[in-house]
Amino acid sequence: MRGVRAQRGTVLRCAQWRQEALLRMLENVLEVGQRPEDLVVYAALGKAARDWPSFDRITATLRTLRGDETLILQSGRPVGVVRTFPGAPRVLSAVNNMVGSWQTPERFYAMADKGMTMWGGLTAAAWQYIGRQGVLQGTYELLRTAAERHFGGAVAGRWLLTAGLGGMGSAQPLAASMLGLSSVTVEADPARLAAAGAAGALDLVVEDLGAALAAVEAARRSGAVAAVGLRGNAAEVFPAVAAQAVRPDIVTDQTAAHDARYGYLPPGMGLDQWALLRETAPEEVERAARAGMAAQVGAMLALAGSGAVVFENGNNLRVQAERAGAADAFDIPGFMERYLRPLFCRGIGPFRWVAVSGDPADLAVLDNLAASLFPERPEVAAWIALARANVPVQGLPARSCWLGHNERSRMAVAANDAVRDGRLSAPVLFTRDHLDAAAMTHPLIGTEGMPDGSDGVSDWPLLDAMLMSATGADLVAVHAGGGGYSGFMQSAGVSIVADGGAECAERLRRALDADTGLGILRYAEAGYGDAAAAVRGAADVTWTNDPATRSADDA
Ligand code: NAD
Repeated sequence: MRGVRAQRGTVLRCAQWRQEALLRMLENVLEVGQRPEDLVVYAALGKAARDWPSFDRITATLRTLRGDETLILQSGRPVGVVRTFPGAPRVLSAVNNMVGSWQTPERFYAMADKGMTMWGGLTAAAWQYIGRQGVLQGTYELLRTAAERHFGGAVAGRWLLTAGLGGMGSAQPLAASMLGLSSVTVEADPARLAAAGAAGALDLVVEDLGAALAAVEAARRSGAVAAVGLRGNAAEVFPAVAAQAVRPDIVTDQTAAHDARYGYLPPGMGLDQWALLRETAPEEVERAARAGMAAQVGAMLALAGSGAVVFENGNNLRVQAERAGAADAFDIPGFMERYLRPLFCRGIGPFRWVAVSGDPADLAVLDNLAASLFPERPEVAAWIALARANVPVQGLPARSCWLGHNERSRMAVAANDAVRDGRLSAPVLFTRDHLDAAAMTHPLIGTEGMPDGSDGVSDWPLLDAMLMSATGADLVAVHAGGGGYSGFMQSAGVSIVADGGAECAERLRRALDADTGLGILRYAEAGYGDAAAAVRGAADVTWTNDPATRSADDA
């Protein structure tokens, strides 16, 4: 079995740090990924490269790529190097983009089986995944906002019911504990339960619902917090919870429900049987999985009816359940629209940085910088303190930190200074999740319920990618959905390396401000007042379609 570990230290294998940092990130997503032997990073099928020969050609090409050349990747396969110029991206990548009527799960699976395409997730093929932490802060912000909105922030004695302890899902119990909320996370795979326990995300693992509920109740009585992993199938456990007198306070799910063939274990099926049937009877598996999701959604609606706060956490559970006949699945709200959009309207989103030296001392310098740079937003320093205390280093030392318009560039330029004057031992790579203000169109997740009805308009991520290329980011990627996300998802990814140079500071400022600038414009255009105010207050963005000035001009 083939393993990959990211290079550490200050010795370059490539012509420049820009290429070296990207190469280390490719290695890193496999180091921290779920099934590196299959090149799968997370979310059931999200891959870093099409196949091992492609991986080998990418790494070999990055080692020889010059500072005026750009490597072109087509769905995880390196297809060529073209002469560009020093300020251009070093890597351009497009993954699984199909014309509209080809965007079906059936066509995706058939082409992927023949090795003709792959799904790149969001941050898998763009080499930006940093492990559980990437989604940890998002989950933490989400639970914190929900608790604030519904319980006035008082979480003592309350508990979360959820499912899935995969690459993303295992952030759930840790985020809940950081907030002071107990949790029961249902997971079908004992190996995933063991991994989450070993990573410190769970306090205990139990085999039956009674023991899980008893542990949560004991924690409540003693004023403690319990993170319980429960071995079971969500399609069976959620209805069993709904049948009990005891009610969870918050209910959601993070199984890989978006993929009915590979992501959700049908009820009544063992893991081995599932693996076999996926090959021999895939349609039967999909039908049984969707029926299970409908049962789970039915239970979630029942729990909502008895007063629990219930939302979908971006895994397409509702649309799958609806296909299986759960007509009221969309009575469950989406997490984005309800809780996170107000932040996106200010350009605040899932920014992150990676110390490509691999040295934890470099991360400490970056943490100190972030904690001191934004006194006007004390929640930033509070998050950094929480993350330092609770987030184990996974792979190359990295920090996810939700920063907004101009804040990201302020942080990156300060880090660039620290590279130049030697406070950092090596360059830093800055990136973000694709689920960011301008970067994603997904009418069932990121852009659900836009006030102007523009939920499915995918011009924005395409414009974002063009803008990132125009402003000189180091890697720019355009992804579209595979499997269950087919026809629903278009996104753009960006990575940029702070190498300490003066020219680099300028590129960091240009690219990062353009990225969030487009984000606030996108939400202002959709009709959000907060976003309009953010655009009007930004010195570096002009809203040419601003109704306030347009009507005067038009008149
Ligand atoms: P993953 O494939 O790594 O893990 C899914 C886990 O669910 C696995 O451990 C699997 O054993 C478990 N599981 C599957 N069916 C089950 C069932 N019926 N009962 C109990 N456990 C079951 O996926 P992931 O990377 O953790 O992602 C989870 C989902 O979240 C995906 O759909 C992903 O696309 C989505 N996602 C959402 C966000 C967001 O911002 N909210 C971000 C990233 C990913």
